[in-house]
Amino acid sequence: MATLNENYLKLKAGYLFPEIGRRTQSFADAHPDAEIIKMGIGDVVRGIPRPVADAMKDACEELAHDETFRGYPPGQGYDFLLEHIAEHEFGSRGVQIETDEIFLSDGAKCDSANIQEIFGLDNVVAMTDPVYPVYCDSNVMAGRTGKADDEGRYVGLVYLPCLEEADFAPPLPDRHVDLIYLCSPNNPTGAVLTRADLARWIDYARSEQAIIIFDAAYEAYITDDSIPHSIYELDGAKDVAIEMRSYSKTAGFTGVRCGFTVVPKQVQVVSADGAQHSLHGLWNRRQSTKYNGVSYPVQRGAAACYTPEGKKAVRELVDFYLANATIMRKRLTEAGYTVFGGDNAPYLWITCPTGLDSWGFFDKLLNEANVVSTPGAGFGAAGEGYLRLSAFQHRHLVEDAMNRICAL
Ligand code: PLP
Repeated sequence: MATLNENYLKLKAGYLFPEIGRRTQSFADAHPDAEIIKMGIGDVVRGIPRPVADAMKDACEELAHDETFRGYPPGQGYDFLLEHIAEHEFGSRGVQIETDEIFLSDGAKCDSANIQEIFGLDNVVAMTDPVYPVYCDSNVMAGRTGKADDEGRYVGLVYLPCLEEADFAPPLPDRHVDLIYLCSPNNPTGAVLTRADLARWIDYARSEQAIIIFDAAYEAYITDDSIPHSIYELDGAKDVAIEMRSYSKTAGFTGVRCGFTVVPKQVQVVSADGAQHSLHGLWNRRQSTKYNGVSYPVQRGAAACYTPEGKKAVRELVDFYLANATIMRKRLTEAGYTVFGGDNAPYLWITCPTGLDSWGFFDKLLNEANVVSTPGAGFGAAGEGYLRLSAFQHRHLVEDAMNRICAL
């Protein structure tokens, strides 16, 4: 009989969102008339911007004709999109990224889960607590950890608790680590890393010869001009950091699927014999073996985000969700809740009322307000005592949800 990768048995029961789904479904089954408002999973709800949808439609039409048909796309992406990314995402911020340092993919989730494959199992991995669960679980599956303790902390991982008193910024590790996952704007806390925060991390990575995996999937939500959108806005980052981006929360691509990872050519990893290797070359090798690229219509859609009309439409979409976050923050604060995030991120991080833990607060909102949220404990032990609300919802539902929660 085939045997199992035993590391999978270390994974804590179910991924967070299936458990939320189970609780929501059982409530819905018991209360078929309840109008449940979903503000838990961070999925967008509004249509894809018109210029983007039109570009995808036109590209589909091209594929229907022998003269304009295209087969397998280039592994890293078509130049028409890579050039836009280099110019609009980086060049416009004074950052020089070469087009061949950009690897398109079907999203930041798979890239952030897959990147660990390149690194040895003996690397010491640091991640924030709370954390986007993919960074953690992908390392557990690979065998880079022991078992989880009662609070869900895996032996072997270095957790960086992000605490309220430090504005939810991760502290530097008090020991050597090799790989560091950072996410700004942060899912789930909504906190952002300042230039000074990032400079400290880059210094740490350079002195420890560590690599930073920087997840900037929500950079479009930054409203404070002093906050970096890319880690490469800081000197020295190109030697030690790779960066992930996504069109999911900007162009409504959660279902379409497209993102990219930047791997600068100078980032190095070392082999057992002491030789240095370019992470860029290794990621290229990995992707060309396991991945066949983003479809042509999707790349045309992503490229349309950078035309003047596309940029305007994407901005309006992001601003719509940010306005939701502002409404939520105001209403909840007025109702006496302590609320973080929501100003540079589509997520609000709310302190649980006295006497309720985060699953208790989740159940209360589900049962009494019929609002689905995400309990902070699902993102790590340090998330206990908090709850995440997502601003990805239609305006009238955001207002209904706030009325219901504030009336509790
Ligand atoms: N990174 C973070 C921090 C996220 O919160 C998410 C989605 O929720 C992703 C990555 C996944 O992005 P994508 O849809 O591009 O896979």
